[in-house]
Amino acid sequence: MRKPFIAGNWKMYKTVAEAVSLANGLKTALADVTTMELAVCTPATALAAVSGALAGSNIGVGAQNMYWKDEGAFTGEISPVMVKELARYVIIGHSERRQYFGETDETVNLKLKAALAHGLTPIVCIGESLEQNKAGETVPFVGAQIRGAFAGVSAAEAVNVVLAYEPIWAIGTGLTATPEDADRIIQVAIRDVLAELYDGAVAEAIRVQYGGSVKADNMADFIVMPNIDGALVGGASLKVDSFTGIVKNALAALGM
Ligand code: PEP
Repeated sequence: MRKPFIAGNWKMYKTVAEAVSLANGLKTALADVTTMELAVCTPATALAAVSGALAGSNIGVGAQNMYWKDEGAFTGEISPVMVKELARYVIIGHSERRQYFGETDETVNLKLKAALAHGLTPIVCIGESLEQNKAGETVPFVGAQIRGAFAGVSAAEAVNVVLAYEPIWAIGTGLTATPEDADRIIQVAIRDVLAELYDGAVAEAIRVQYGGSVKADNMADFIVMPNIDGALVGGASLKVDSFTGIVKNALAALGM
């Protein structure tokens, strides 16, 4: 059975002081959660302070991006070695990075391989635009993103990857995919492709989160779907009450 996993993506919000305050609030509010994996992905500037605040708690810490080389003359970047000192997870290929910062399936693949080589748990984001969705191109497009991301990744490594299916048109918009559509796309564009690249066991082992305007009042509808193993939450992860509500409603829906 895949362990449910809900992660917050704090995007470019929170000073260090604000981040520590949010982390401390979540640590208290979610202290009794044992059956679900939890993480917060903070701005790079807050990683050290938040990992200190959450040390020994049930909430892991993640970065939102990294470069694929260990070190070098790459001004402004952070490396997997640096992330590993402070975090266990790293988001790779978020659609905002693909859209605004030139991330491609090739750079996602390089970053994914680097994260795995360094023992980080990558959360790899995939998802289609509104135009692609309307044109009926979702399944081939997301399938190609999966093939690109996993190129050269062994089956033994692949099972450590977490995927986040995030339709771009649902991110930060208040719109969501229907749970049934998200579940179907995860089956045909993600698990079926993973089964082809690896085998059925690998396809069944990899956890897939849904992302895109997840809130406390819609989480239950997604988490009960057979292919959905949790959520990557942006806006609603920025407050203690809203993130806690999402986690508690997911646990209740799963009877955990
Ligand atoms: C995200 O940042 O990955 C995300 C899904 O954002 P939101 O929950 O705000 O749509």
